[in-house]
Amino acid sequence: LNQGIGSWPARRARKTPHRVAVVHEDRTWTYRELHERVVRLAHALRTLGVARGDRVAYLGPNHPAFLETLFATGALGAVFVPLNTRLPAPELAYNLADSGSTVLVHGPEQAPAARAAADEAGTRHRIALAGPEEAEALGYEELLAGAGTGPLDERVAPEDPCMIMYTSGTTGRPKGAVLSHANITWNSVNVLVDTELSGDEVTLVVAPLFHTAGLNMTCLPTLLKGGRVVLLGSFDAERVLDVIEELRVTYMFAVPTMYDAMAARPRFASADLSSLRTLNCGGAPVPGRTIAAYLDRGLAFSQGYGMTEASPGILFLDREQASAKAGSAGVPHFFTDTRVVLGDGSDAAAGDPGEILVHGPHVMTGYWERPDDTAAALTEDGWLHTGDVARLDAEGYAYIVDRVKDMFVSGGENVYPAEVEAALLTHPDIAECAVVGVPDPVWGEVGRAVVVLKPGAHADEANILGRLHGRLAKYKIPKSLTVTADLPRTASGKIIKPAVRERYATDAA
Ligand code: ATP
Ligand code: MG
Repeated sequence: LNQGIGSWPARRARKTPHRVAVVHEDRTWTYRELHERVVRLAHALRTLGVARGDRVAYLGPNHPAFLETLFATGALGAVFVPLNTRLPAPELAYNLADSGSTVLVHGPEQAPAARAAADEAGTRHRIALAGPEEAEALGYEELLAGAGTGPLDERVAPEDPCMIMYTSGTTGRPKGAVLSHANITWNSVNVLVDTELSGDEVTLVVAPLFHTAGLNMTCLPTLLKGGRVVLLGSFDAERVLDVIEELRVTYMFAVPTMYDAMAARPRFASADLSSLRTLNCGGAPVPGRTIAAYLDRGLAFSQGYGMTEASPGILFLDREQASAKAGSAGVPHFFTDTRVVLGDGSDAAAGDPGEILVHGPHVMTGYWERPDDTAAALTEDGWLHTGDVARLDAEGYAYIVDRVKDMFVSGGENVYPAEVEAALLTHPDIAECAVVGVPDPVWGEVGRAVVVLKPGAHADEANILGRLHGRLAKYKIPKSLTVTADLPRTASGKIIKPAVRERYATDAA
């Protein structure tokens, strides 16, 4: 773990200088080129005053500059802060101020939001990737061209903070998880140990890099091993299928909504997907039909489970078990331990739901400047409360049930909406759905289903809810249903339950 992840490009340039590291649009960068650009950028950042422990933020698309900024910042012992491109300027200003970033690197499309947010937060320097000439911003390529190329001579320790990564904000305001160089490295090691990822890997990165899965489950393990990463600036199902065919992609991660969109393309059945060795999916509940679409296509579809705070990998389903244990998120990663516990802290019996706790060298040191949240999440001996409910089968395979926060109680019985949503999604007319608990004078709370129908479908409430009888216990079946055009989602495709509750929990059905 010597010198942290900022040294990875240099180490790779020593071993595999001519291998392609990064592919973006019609350009490629070898490991040597990546290394040289990282050194220049680090010198440029140092000239702007960035020193050990300082924060450098990035707001932009999946682009080589994201990785260069990450590595250059790390090489200086400074802390990288990736920001969510979907956030409006005031929230970005909050992130910049909260993290105390002194430099913001941003893409051309983000320029207006970056300018407004940096002004409000008092961020000292802005570096623009490209785009219209701007007096107040420095040009990224100009900075690199004029920067030094000598050794950086900075000591970086494994336990030094490497990045502040904000959680997705699915259950509230995003929290900055402080991840050390050791945390990030051990997560990559877990991925390498638990998959067949190799030096000739062609890894497709379609999930946004500013969220943990895109960066830490795909890019970094691949670059550690010397494979190549293909960066796509945005998700487009048709384009993803093209790229898999053209570049013979071998490994990818995507969230369930992305895999669904790909499987829904008419071309899906005939596309040449034979190069794909591992399809990793997670970040949100993975519908049975999503898994089936890929297994039926003869592809190894592995569900993983993780969270930003764990850098993120916690559970992973080995491709060998992809069919036999379909629906399971697998077993803990190699260097990871988990427990499933009841409210009193005792271990849940096989089959019983309980909160999943995680321990390992990839678990964060805490939330950035939020001691109360840190104390609530981490026990003194380093176990992280995930806030998720899981159930183990007799062989120790975990099935993610739902978030603790999303559970509601109806007539004294616990209802996990994710189970109800999975049952609703088996209805041929339902494209998406969310179930939330709404107040009820008799039962305390009852479920309300909010559904998005497939184009042209006209299913009615009685038909949809009627189908659940016999599949689910009566107390789990929603008492009302609302059809909507779309559900509020995060940038990584997760349904924002608090927003659904707010919108649908009070009015009559
Ligand atoms: P916030 O913490 O800000 O509310 P978030 O929890 O969605 O947002 P992330 O760290 O990106 O932020 O996501 C981790 C969460 O995603 C997990 O805690 C879990 O609820 C969910 N998740 C991840 N993988 C799976 C999976 N395979 N099945 C079900 N849920 C999953
Ligand atoms: Mg979370």
